[in-house]
Amino acid sequence: MVKAIVGANWGDEGKGKITDMLGQEADIIVRYQGGSNAGHTIINKYGKFALHLLPSGVFYDHTTSIIGNGVALNIPYLFQEIKSIVDRGVPAPKILVSDRAQIMMPYHILFDQYEEERLGGKSFGSTKSGIAPFYSDKYAKIGFQVSELFDEEVLKEKVNHVCEMKNILLEHMYHKPKIDSVELFNTLLKYRDMVKPYVCDVAAYLHQALQEDKNILLEGQLGALKDPDFGIYPMVTSSSTLASYGAIGAGIPAYEIKKVVAVAKAYSSAVGAGEFVSEIFGEEADELRKRGGDGGEFGATTGRPRRMGWFDAVATRYGCRMQGATEVALTVLDVLGYLKELPICVGYEIDGVITKDFPTTVKLAKAKPVYEILPGWMEEIRGITKYEELPKNCRKYIEFIEKELEVPITMISNGPGREEIIFRNK
Ligand code: GDP
Repeated sequence: MVKAIVGANWGDEGKGKITDMLGQEADIIVRYQGGSNAGHTIINKYGKFALHLLPSGVFYDHTTSIIGNGVALNIPYLFQEIKSIVDRGVPAPKILVSDRAQIMMPYHILFDQYEEERLGGKSFGSTKSGIAPFYSDKYAKIGFQVSELFDEEVLKEKVNHVCEMKNILLEHMYHKPKIDSVELFNTLLKYRDMVKPYVCDVAAYLHQALQEDKNILLEGQLGALKDPDFGIYPMVTSSSTLASYGAIGAGIPAYEIKKVVAVAKAYSSAVGAGEFVSEIFGEEADELRKRGGDGGEFGATTGRPRRMGWFDAVATRYGCRMQGATEVALTVLDVLGYLKELPICVGYEIDGVITKDFPTTVKLAKAKPVYEILPGWMEEIRGITKYEELPKNCRKYIEFIEKELEVPITMISNGPGREEIIFRNK
């Protein structure tokens, strides 16, 4: 059975925690898109970790962690991340890397920085991890697949060809040092030796696993609203963040994804630029940011303060729909216990017309939030394990959101820890 765990919002919904928790019953956990550009924070018996590239299942010794073909594979980063967890007492994880994954090249990271510099104030707010140049090259067919590391002659020729193109840009567009093709070739040989023990035909491995009825989790990065097709283009990421892409980025048939858990946060937060209708500012935002997540809403990769907002039912319903959510995990609800009143954005007013449908970016820029105000519960809800024991106004908030989303909320996360979860039998 394949279950995808994906974001219904702009990312940072707490997918890491939900994956870590559901990993208990999984055999295999697959990352299928993105790269080391966004982080997942996980708190379990080994401590607190910020993972970027490894799937959140690496903490269990019964699971196999897979980097699928859809991922932007930063090889030195992967090794650094494995080392960082093993050094802290986590048993060495079982990891497989798809032979069809493409490699994050050192120049992708540089191009990302140079382009942000060039754009100045008009930048996309990139995390500068090389993601956009990486996926551009993949689809321009000048990326490097892991499998290509194992044929030195072909590799050398390709390195020379790519360096020629890249050096023209470096010299004439960015006025930066050129790439030395010999040095790059040698770096790739080092990458080959590092990754060799983990390389595997992942699609074949998963085909076998499916035949053996194994439990497979697909772990998404970022959220539906950062999807290049259905998100707030162009302020999106460069690989699809949707569960449907899990089939491609892992190498399994689309019809195998039976369950999709959309993770939605009980309020809104976003990093980087882009339209954000229910955004709040000033003291109101500072207070929520300070209390949010686990120790404040600051980016796990960049440390940047996240933009804050009230729960956006329009964006989240759309996010759930585009994810094909079969259930919702509502996270970080505990943080809202200090508020007397809780606004929920239930509509967008665009040119005087109220809509509940999430529009394209040009229209979104004109949208003003329409709020419904719910009473707060003014209570600490951490430690509660049964749904019925939640304060009445808290349940009202959850049930209001559920109605708006049109998808059952089956899990409520009321703390960052693995055990801090309330299951609802729906
Ligand atoms: P991801 O990228 O979707 O995995 O999300 P992140 O890990 O970037 O952000 C979620 C943040 O919220 C992390 O700091 C988590 O430890 C924290 N978190 C997750 N669930 C909860 C929760 O229910 N309550 C609180 N207070 N924090 C949570």
